[in-house]
Amino acid sequence: MQSDQTTTVQYLKEQMKTFVRDRDWEQYHTSKNLASSVAIEAAELLELFQWLTVEDAQRLSLSDEELRVKIADEMSDVLLYLISLANVLNIDITSSVKSKLEKNASKYPRPVTDSPEAVKQTSASNSRS
Ligand SMILES: [Mg+2]
Repeated sequence: MQSDQTTTVQYLKEQMKTFVRDRDWEQYHTSKNLASSVAIEAAELLELFQWLTVEDAQRLSLSDEELRVKIADEMSDVLLYLISLANVLNIDITSSVKSKLEKNASKYPRPVTDSPEAVKQTSASNSRS
């Protein structure tokens, strides 16, 4: 059985491309339709948590196997449409994700810790400004 540890993004892209081509669905897999489908499937994922409290959602999503299968199915729907969108737009998912992680790291730097060493460094740099 394949897993995240043994499967490449390129393999998933090829699998999705073959799935779409075998059904002659390229005509429907336009960027607009695929972006819409991502949002629709994300709503289906969210629907699984509708009306649950935050605590129940957390507990059930970890313990209720039937719910976990439904969550995994909707997550897969979202991912498959994103993969198809990447195929249509010729976007390299890995380089895009890595680039976005770097942008996010710059935008949201790691918090300064309260360690005595960090406090000493913060005080020293503040006294210089
Ligand atoms: Mg779905």
